[in-house]
Amino acid sequence: MSLLGSRLFRSLGTTIFAKMSALATETGAINLGQGFPDEDGPATLRARAAQAILTESNQYPPSPGLPALRQAIARHAERHYGLNFDWTREVIVTSGGTEATGACLMALLNPGDEAVLIEPAYDCYRPIIEAIGAVPKGVALRPPAFELPMSALAAAVNARTRVIVLNSPMNPAGKVFSQAELEGIADLARKRNLLVVCDEVYEHLTFDGAPHIPLITLPGMRERCLRVGSAGKIFSLTGWKVGWITGDASLVQLAAKAHQFITFTTPPALQMAVAEGLEKEEGYYLSLKNEMAAKRDILAAGLTRVGFDVLPCQGTYFITANAWPLDAAVEDESFCERMTREAGVAAIPLSAFYIKNAPRNLVRFAFCKRPEVLEDAIQRLKGYFGR
Ligand code: PMP
Repeated sequence: MSLLGSRLFRSLGTTIFAKMSALATETGAINLGQGFPDEDGPATLRARAAQAILTESNQYPPSPGLPALRQAIARHAERHYGLNFDWTREVIVTSGGTEATGACLMALLNPGDEAVLIEPAYDCYRPIIEAIGAVPKGVALRPPAFELPMSALAAAVNARTRVIVLNSPMNPAGKVFSQAELEGIADLARKRNLLVVCDEVYEHLTFDGAPHIPLITLPGMRERCLRVGSAGKIFSLTGWKVGWITGDASLVQLAAKAHQFITFTTPPALQMAVAEGLEKEEGYYLSLKNEMAAKRDILAAGLTRVGFDVLPCQGTYFITANAWPLDAAVEDESFCERMTREAGVAAIPLSAFYIKNAPRNLVRFAFCKRPEVLEDAIQRLKGYFGR
């Protein structure tokens, strides 16, 4: 018998985000690796949370979340997508989108089941699936457009497949799934009797008029989808870790059981502030999108001038670029490490988001930073790469 602990977690390293952030701090590099805004979201929300800490209860809120926030989440889904959720049974609050995703996977998967990951995939899905004893199966999207290969997706499904994880808008690819792609996924889910965990934490970060269409709005999908949201991304408050799950009561109630044993609840002051935030008018969401799209444009143009081949980006905090025009056949991980140490700009190698057969030429940059920080990063890269 081994006394060394979990084989799974022994086999995993520190996440690439923590590694690159630590290297950025050590070397004084501008951190375009980890995706967090360098300006905090609305002062009104922060003031509301501070006031709640000082004047209201700081004890355990109900496990499914404060009624005020669950009602606000239900109204938000109604207002933006015409979705109707019963806030008492079809909405729960979690400690961030990551916990929400974990609770959904635990609620839906049995040991031995298979879960399909559309890659490049956000890094938390795979270890959670494996910790459950289920098996992740990757379906790779290929650059530059990262279109969904429907036949490969269908081929990845077998009798053991229970879940597809769909992340749209998609980190790290900056892709927003099209109506046709979503219809393809829904069709497959209906035919093969699959459930879908829909990670929609970037729902309000779509650009150039690309609509965010929740898969759950498609015919026959209401009883098959669990949707994950996050206040961190909507309000540029990523450290708050307030997330939620919405869906049909039959599935949400299972996720609520997982949630009660993971974190049980989420800080009440933050829940109160987010409840008020979600009532914001359309103008707030529009400026969030427009400001983020303007930052994307600055970084995309700058990286192009430096000599990267920049891929399209329709959403999220991230843009992907091909490094090989600058350094032919370099491995993405060593490229990122060298760029951090020598050029003073940190980014994330895309291969970290694939189970196998990863492309080795792509690098992910976060553009959710102040324009002057992006300009500074571009100047550093230009200086280093000699353009
Ligand atoms: N899903 C995706 C695709 C993400 O990029 C992130 C944050 N990086 C999360 C979930 C986690 O959200 P939260 O910070 O609310 O846990």
